[in-house]
Amino acid sequence: MKRLLLPVALVAALVLSCKNAPKAEPVIPADPSLEARIEKVLSGMSLEEKAGQLVQLNISTLEDDTHEAIDPAKLDRIIGQYKVGSILNVMHDRAHSREETAAMVRQIQEKSMEAIGIPCIYGLDMIHGASYLVEGSLYPQEINLGATFNREFARQMGRAMAYETRAAQVPWVFSPVMDLGRDPRWPRQWESFGEDPYLQAEMAREETIALQGEDPNHIDKEHVAVSIKHFMGYGVPLSGKDRTPAYIAENDLREKYFAPFLECFRTGALTAMVNSASINGIPTHANALLLTGWVKEELGWDGLFVTDWADIDNLWQRDHVAADKREAVKMGINAGIDMIMDPYDVTCCDVIVDLVKAGEIPEARLNDAVRRVLRLKMRLGLFDEPVWDDAYPAFASEQFGRESYAAALESEVLLKNEGGILPLREDIRILVTGPNAASLRALNGGWSYTWQGAADDFAPQYNTIVDALENRFRNVTFEPGVRYIPIPMMWQLEDASGIRQAVAAASRADVIIACVGENSYCETPGNMDDLNLSGNQKELVKALAATGKPIVLVLNEGRPRLIGDIEPLCAAVVDVMLPSNYGADALAALLSGDENFSGKLPFTYSKHINALHTYDYKVSEHRETMAGSYNYDAVMDVQWPFGHGLSYTTFAYGNLKVQADSFKAADVLEVSVDVTNTGLRAGKEAVLLYSSDLVASLIPDVKRLRGFDKVELAPGETRTVCFKLPASDLAFVGADGKWRLEEGDFRLSCGGQGVLVRCTETKVWNTPNK
Ligand code: BGC
Repeated sequence: MKRLLLPVALVAALVLSCKNAPKAEPVIPADPSLEARIEKVLSGMSLEEKAGQLVQLNISTLEDDTHEAIDPAKLDRIIGQYKVGSILNVMHDRAHSREETAAMVRQIQEKSMEAIGIPCIYGLDMIHGASYLVEGSLYPQEINLGATFNREFARQMGRAMAYETRAAQVPWVFSPVMDLGRDPRWPRQWESFGEDPYLQAEMAREETIALQGEDPNHIDKEHVAVSIKHFMGYGVPLSGKDRTPAYIAENDLREKYFAPFLECFRTGALTAMVNSASINGIPTHANALLLTGWVKEELGWDGLFVTDWADIDNLWQRDHVAADKREAVKMGINAGIDMIMDPYDVTCCDVIVDLVKAGEIPEARLNDAVRRVLRLKMRLGLFDEPVWDDAYPAFASEQFGRESYAAALESEVLLKNEGGILPLREDIRILVTGPNAASLRALNGGWSYTWQGAADDFAPQYNTIVDALENRFRNVTFEPGVRYIPIPMMWQLEDASGIRQAVAAASRADVIIACVGENSYCETPGNMDDLNLSGNQKELVKALAATGKPIVLVLNEGRPRLIGDIEPLCAAVVDVMLPSNYGADALAALLSGDENFSGKLPFTYSKHINALHTYDYKVSEHRETMAGSYNYDAVMDVQWPFGHGLSYTTFAYGNLKVQADSFKAADVLEVSVDVTNTGLRAGKEAVLLYSSDLVASLIPDVKRLRGFDKVELAPGETRTVCFKLPASDLAFVGADGKWRLEEGDFRLSCGGQGVLVRCTETKVWNTPNK
């Protein structure tokens, strides 16, 4: 019953909010000369040509039998005859050199210009750098960048990704990913910047600007168009499995899930990819209220919505909201889809033509979608230069490598360091063990040279953890204990026959570095039924612990696998997540003490499978804050909270101040706090500012992240960190779907300090967004 009622309520609220919304100032100001040019091109196009522009096919539809080159006959049919507007992906599901990629794009462009005089647009999944270019620069995955709490790394990755992608003649990336990673069962948590909407919004905005440059109407040849994804609510499927339904409270949808998208739309994001699944019973690809209502109308956004992989087909084949392909195409385009990623089926073009002829897709909608495609191509300069000069001297430069290493250093999180076992002496006898110790594939995760990740095959020049430790320490022995069986898509297969040898080797070591976690995976193949670390790996750690030798547990994983039973057996724990090609070098530098840890968790590390939650829980959900007239038995405790991360030095916070004791909705709160390095060595500290609304008309979250900054301090040094916090940031979406800031007390907190500040007026916004 609930499932039926929710969508109706949602739809009604959205319709109301759209109707009442004043006509929005476009988030990207129109360029009149560009618009005039679009009209000119559009007026000369036939219906068939228009339909072709709305379709995007997988490159496999153009491949010859070798899967390494374009088949001219297929090119004639797909680009020459159907005039398909866009192609995506890589041949043979693997990275190619930039020269090969560029040559392939040139061939497509030549045909497209000859056939229709309109350039084709090529798009690639560049997820953590130039993921699909051999020798391209890879950075730590987004989850790691979230852990740095350092916006500069999102900017650096965006700039390098744009530059290297353009160097291969590709002007469009399906990045940044900004699904909130709020459920560790979901196999794509690592593709996001973490669980928090503010952190996600800040990092994604910086990456978007770095990718596109400052002027979304005129993207130069060192920048590319983004496709922010996956719009929206994709990261919290009820089942925990990829591409399955989410049920999201209406207020959370606008307040939390929309927030990072809104930030990027306002920044000028040119395209967005739609969530493959559904929210509250409505497949997102058919959700006119979200696509057309919330984005195109409310924001006056003139960019392009592209579907995710075959998701129009999912409307009929999987979700059964349409009876057949024809109905599904009609539903999607009328809901606001502008380009259909219909990977293998060019006849989708015929379906569009037929629907327009029958009046089932209004001509105005067709033209609107085509304009959006043409606008994107014009903004990218493709009409004037469908291909360009290949000179990109900084491709794969040392500078990009240095940035990647620096990001890895700031992203690896020291979670536990009992008795100060770390850093390790150079001459200590180390046993390195575990299935992640000798794997670049595991350090990189998915979207690394291939979809499922294959860094060992493509980038053997980089160091695995064993290599890096051998380079840094004098006495290293390696005995894996458990190995991954290297079959793509079968990432969970393990061979545990080496546990006995590893235990035997432990007797000759002073310390054990156990590298456990996950092998690489991506999307649906990453689904699993048990969030616990694998039984084999736990057995390895338990057997090693029985030797009495101290264990440093290194977690190399895309999501926090549960380790509640083995954590007490380990003296130290480091979560490196997916730090990419320089991640092992960074780890060796951190474990040896050459460098200091400064990463903090961008997600909650849960302890129990029935107690998965996020840091912004409700007060009744947590033991520490348990309050009320009786015990609700809602006891949840976590392994490590969001924001946890240790250092080799210590920091003290003091003097948290707000410039005034009270504020009104239009004010900007000036908050400051003194941070002192009270230890003996230099270190960086991520300073996180939270707010708590003490009384509100909807149960308030216990706290929310409102600001962060990263500072570097010498021993004994104190810095005052200042935040400017617009009071409107403290508003929430109420039961009526409207943003509201309510009179009453707020607590601001930072590094264990707290200060009360009073809001002296209630403000309700009559616009859908603040
Ligand atoms: C993924 C997207 C990706 C697309 C194109 C889909 O399966 O969900 O994230 O951009 O494929 O490769």
